[in-house]
Amino acid sequence: MPIRIAVVGLGKIARDQHLPCIAKNRNLRLVAGVSRNAKAVGVPNFETLTDLIKSKVPVDAVALCTPPSVRLAMAKEALDAGYHVLIEKPPTPTVGEMTDMIAYASKKRRVLYATWHSRYNKAVDEAKKRLKGKHVNFLRVTWKEDVNKWHPGQQWIWEPGGFGVFDPGINALSIVTKIMPVPIFVGGGVIDVPENSATAIGAEIKFKRGDGAEADLSMVLDWRQRGEQIWDIDVGTRDGMKLKLSKGGSVLAVNGKTVMEAPLEEYEMIYEKFTRLLKSKTTDADCSPLQLMCDCFMLARPKVTRKFEWDKS
Ligand code: NAP
Repeated sequence: MPIRIAVVGLGKIARDQHLPCIAKNRNLRLVAGVSRNAKAVGVPNFETLTDLIKSKVPVDAVALCTPPSVRLAMAKEALDAGYHVLIEKPPTPTVGEMTDMIAYASKKRRVLYATWHSRYNKAVDEAKKRLKGKHVNFLRVTWKEDVNKWHPGQQWIWEPGGFGVFDPGINALSIVTKIMPVPIFVGGGVIDVPENSATAIGAEIKFKRGDGAEADLSMVLDWRQRGEQIWDIDVGTRDGMKLKLSKGGSVLAVNGKTVMEAPLEEYEMIYEKFTRLLKSKTTDADCSPLQLMCDCFMLARPKVTRKFEWDKS
């Protein structure tokens, strides 16, 4: 019997990816939508998770596609109702909340799957394989995109817990923490915060190797990019290998030669994995990208920049 799933928070990513990928997967069946201002087609819809639970519509799992600031309370309510839980990235606003969510899912004996969609690329897997056992002495993450294009009119991204430019930046960190053969830590940096915002619009971060070895490791994030959108990760190793992941981790070049160009199937892979996790009753919730991002806020210097205004053109 297919897994009965409800999608909570029918915003951009739920409509762009979750609903279509659930529809494509024959091991899953959408049974409800939960959102205050939107509806899923062809299924019962509810304004809140509480209303869904009260309705007695049979549900095995929920996908929480709301902003991170409200996830912990929602996840707990869903787990209390006996549902398994899949969550969008970033999982929660703090590591403390994520740790609590993992412990709660374990106590309730339910599966918690913290998705990191950018990790689901064959080129990322290949990069990890090629870096295994190597000594990385260079890393440059360049994540430059237009906030108007990817988060049109979303106010939550500018509020505390909305992460600002780290909302996409954490995608890069989810790849970095997957492919790096050793952990890296934040050394310092600068975070640009618009005068009318609680979160960052740009950042320049320095990292360091955990073993103290000399290395040039850094990241630039910018939401003020116009024209070409750039999501690149360049890695260099002591033995001279130069590896470049581009287009958000879907294209891999090694020493200047493209070795893999994989189609973007991140959410298809996420839902395939979710069905496997449910079958084996296994939780998958890696805190490391969130930890690294939180450490950027701990150690980088904030710099107030000019007021942010949405593009009206
Ligand atoms: P969004 O368009 O704002 O959608 C989120 C939805 O959650 C809203 O439409 C809203 O639906 C509901 N919601 C908002 N605030 C809420 C609250 N306080 N309580 C309950 N429900 C609330 O945002 P999104 O772009 O889809 O992003 C959602 C998550 O997906 C974020 O964590 C983001 O990082 C991640 N993500 C986004 C993208 C992207 O391209 N945008 C890509 C990958 C991952 P109702 O008002 O109808 O309740």
